[in-house]
Amino acid sequence: MDINVGDVIQMKKNHPCGCNTFTVRRVGMDFKICCNGCGHEVMLPRKAAEKSIKKIITSDGENN
Ligand SMILES: [Zn+2]
Repeated sequence: MDINVGDVIQMKKNHPCGCNTFTVRRVGMDFKICCNGCGHEVMLPRKAAEKSIKKIITSDGENN
């Protein structure tokens, strides 16, 4: 799975605020994602992140 900083991803599970789209802030060993509903930032290991991603909604990488 190819995920870049700035991508908007849809997760399989909703965040407690009810939103299931997140913006990617950092990639690497751990992913840092920011909830698009409430702005809460979450860190999670790459493997866990890739498992819980349903799909990539927008990819900013194509603009560069
Ligand atoms: Zn949220």
